[in-house]
Amino acid sequence: MAVSRFAYVKSFEQPDPLLPNTYIIVRVDGHAFHRLSQEHQFTKPNDERALQLMDHAAKDVMNEFQDVILAFGESDEYSFLFRRSATVHKRRHAKILSIVTSVFTSSYVFNWPKYLSETPLKYAPTFDARVVLYPSSQEVRDYFSWRQADTHVNNLYNTAFWALVQQGGETTVQAHQTLKGTMSKEKNEILYSRFEINYNKLPDRHRKGSILVREQIASAQGHNKPSTEIVLLHCDIIKDDFWQARPYLLQ
Ligand code: ATP
Ligand code: ATP
Ligand code: MG
Ligand code: MG
Ligand code: MG
Ligand code: MG
Repeated sequence: MAVSRFAYVKSFEQPDPLLPNTYIIVRVDGHAFHRLSQEHQFTKPNDERALQLMDHAAKDVMNEFQDVILAFGESDEYSFLFRRSATVHKRRHAKILSIVTSVFTSSYVFNWPKYLSETPLKYAPTFDARVVLYPSSQEVRDYFSWRQADTHVNNLYNTAFWALVQQGGETTVQAHQTLKGTMSKEKNEILYSRFEINYNKLPDRHRKGSILVREQIASAQGHNKPSTEIVLLHCDIIKDDFWQARPYLLQ
């Protein structure tokens, strides 16, 4: 058959398995969301609706991939942790990366009207993504600490920046100047003394980001397989408590 004469081209496809028995983390990040957030009038510094839409899309990824046991989101990004033993799609790099990105992006667009009903999309939002492999649980812990510390640093800066602009009457250029070189303590002080904002009282979602975790729930009588549910939290994941309460995450 003619097909067989052409089929050799398939052999040019390269195998791309991810190293076995390592933790897979996939991080998606909105492409040019600074612009997207402006063009669609996101509330600054934190548009609640947009954050909830991100959580929704992330949950859809977890429903597609049962091996994703933890996800962390902030701003326009989400990180997904696969259990170390995952063999989904034979751990093929391109397959996993492209499906995660595609499910996330598709869900973000599909569900946009549910969260931002009064703001029709002007163009199609897109996301980039990468895979990183970690050999030990310490690196996984440090990865998530790194992302949550980033959430805090960005949120403190953005909260101070937009308070100076929206309540302090500064231009964005002036606000940038005012904050240049300031330490956390000084930003907290500006927020408190000039705008009566106590940073520690701001919503957990904004200060800690979003944690989606697959929790094991006590199985109903007559069922021997423990069932799981995906829970949304906005808690600290830098300290030990979160991980000690869920040892199965780093098994
Ligand atoms: P790149 O394509 O390189 O990622 P980017 O413009 O997306 O560029 P990021 O560093 O990813 O840059 O930052 C995302 C930006 O999107 C934030 O700086 C912020 O301006 C905006 N943004 C994302 N989510 C929200 C939100 N929920 N509320 C308000 N602004 C948001
Ligand atoms: P996988 O997720 O592994 O790709 P799949 O179901 O998408 O599984 P494919 O080999 O990609 O399988 O085949 C795509 C199938 O989608 C076709 O076999 C056909 O049944 C259907 N399909 C795609 N496009 C059309 C179309 N334009 N009209 C009718 N059927 C279509
Ligand atoms: Mg980026
Ligand atoms: Mg981005
Ligand atoms: Mg980002
Ligand atoms: Mg197909």
